[in-house]
Amino acid sequence: MSKHTHAFQAEVARLLHLVTHSLYSNPDIFLRELISNASDACDKLRFEALADASLYEDQPNLEIRVAFDKAAKTITITDNGIGMSEAEAIEHLGTIAKSGTRDFLQRLSGDQKQDAQLIGQFGVGFYSGFIVADRITVESRRAGLPPEQGVRWSSDGSGAFDTETITRPARGTSVILHLRDDASEYLNRWKLKSIIGKYSDHISLPILMQKEVWDKDKGEYVLQDEWEAVNSASALWTRPKKDISDEQYIEFYKNLSYDSEAPLAWSHHRVEGSTEYTQLLYIPAKAPFDLWNRDKRGGVKLYVKRVFIMDDAESLMPAYLRWVKGVIDSADLPLNVSRELLQESRDVKAIRDGNTRRVLSMLEDLAKKDVLPTGEAWEQLSADEKAEAERQAGKYSRFYAEFGAVLKEGLGEDFANRERIAKLLRFASTHSDAVSVSLADYKARMKEGQEAIYYITADTLAAAKNSPQLEVFRKKGIEVLLMTDRVDEWALSFLHEFDGTPLQSVAKGAVDLGKLQDEEEKKAAEQAAETFKPVLDKLKDALKDKAKDVRVTARLVDSPACLVVEDGEYSMQLARLLKQAGQ
Ligand code: ADP
Ligand code: MG
Repeated sequence: MSKHTHAFQAEVARLLHLVTHSLYSNPDIFLRELISNASDACDKLRFEALADASLYEDQPNLEIRVAFDKAAKTITITDNGIGMSEAEAIEHLGTIAKSGTRDFLQRLSGDQKQDAQLIGQFGVGFYSGFIVADRITVESRRAGLPPEQGVRWSSDGSGAFDTETITRPARGTSVILHLRDDASEYLNRWKLKSIIGKYSDHISLPILMQKEVWDKDKGEYVLQDEWEAVNSASALWTRPKKDISDEQYIEFYKNLSYDSEAPLAWSHHRVEGSTEYTQLLYIPAKAPFDLWNRDKRGGVKLYVKRVFIMDDAESLMPAYLRWVKGVIDSADLPLNVSRELLQESRDVKAIRDGNTRRVLSMLEDLAKKDVLPTGEAWEQLSADEKAEAERQAGKYSRFYAEFGAVLKEGLGEDFANRERIAKLLRFASTHSDAVSVSLADYKARMKEGQEAIYYITADTLAAAKNSPQLEVFRKKGIEVLLMTDRVDEWALSFLHEFDGTPLQSVAKGAVDLGKLQDEEEKKAAEQAAETFKPVLDKLKDALKDKAKDVRVTARLVDSPACLVVEDGEYSMQLARLLKQAGQ
């Protein structure tokens, strides 16, 4: 039995340095991380055993045990899941494969306090153990390998770790934390049990702890040989809604998303029909830092009959809803479902459409409740209803500030739901600095004779507001939507009309004010075009390489001239963006 010493990958060493040298806003998370790994290991075993039932050996009941030893100052987390071979232990506990953790490392600011808080939010997986331990020993044996091919992995969390081959009859993994002196508060059943209750109650396997009884003679609690489950041990989404508290839904979300903030809303349903599945979807309150990475989709986890299948289930949610978190559990999909199969499956398509519709209706609901009712409508509410209305008010605005720009991508991506998405959009306008004007609000305020919804795109609100192209609209008191998101121009190119009214950029072509222009103004404009024809011709000639046309316009009031683009062409804003992007 020879011992080998291995150096940690440089990134792991960096992470460990941080973990062992930082202050912790929340050290309790180490247990959440290690239990989550134990649970993943059991999920993996269950998955592999679908093809080879002999992997269960004589232990078909998967479970996690959490034990502590006051004298030895250790906490041990044991699972009978898939386990690790020696090579796997070296790879998985010595390198970082996860792109999420890499992103996390890139985000570190160097400020200890801030970074410590980040760790609390993300968790750094296995290495969280070093928050409370000055040495970690892992003993493991992979399912399917003989007992003599077990492994012991050990490290003090500085630059290196050791491995050696051991004999381990039991399949699975034990993680033994040798606690630091300042972490002895965790050598306490009540403490560990309450952390499990808080962070890991939803874990679908039993988490067992030894029972404890009061010993009169010794005057202390003594651990028994008997073990009992300290969690509910049923996957949260399989329980009836009425048995789940808001706190439990929120805690489950935090586990799922590594978000430290509670979600704005969630929706939990058993969807019946030709495809049956359980759907638990959350709308986060805060955008993740990688929101704009369209390739990253880890939001919704796919289970089949409670067996975890995959977690970047891009087939389950369109890209513009990639920020939604949740769980889908289907009884209809085959358990050995592959990525390719997923993409082609009609059931998956039905689930994806159902998810999309559900998210849109959650958003519609939030939007409806964003502003408190006033006057009579408010008075008619009961005290409970008022309190609930106050709880919901402002949530949609918060959502929109974080995710509105991504939602707009849906106009170009999801034609079937374009109308519903359009209704959910909010803009600033010449009537409102706040991004709160819906297209329906706008329509309700349209002037007599106004035939289009007018908008302008610009880099900033100030630039939009000061554009000379708005002059005539301002003079006539016509509202113009002010669009300043990068995606606006592109997204709006997919929305030609809203509820029968065309959308018209005020920076494009000869803005036709139609019936908003009275006869006199029209005549004056025609006359001006006539009078100034010689001047226009000269200008056209002088600018012939630079401008396509030079026209007399009615859109200006104070400014002498402005630039416009041809109808149907990219606006100047988009042209600039494309140029920046090198196109
Ligand atoms: P993550 O769980 O997100 O992959 P971790 O740092 O928590 O990252 O764990 C790293 C890897 O170590 C896991 O992906 C897994 O391969 C392995 N591992 C950790 N704990 C266990 C365990 N109890 N049983 C089997 N493998 C484990
Ligand atoms: Mg983990």
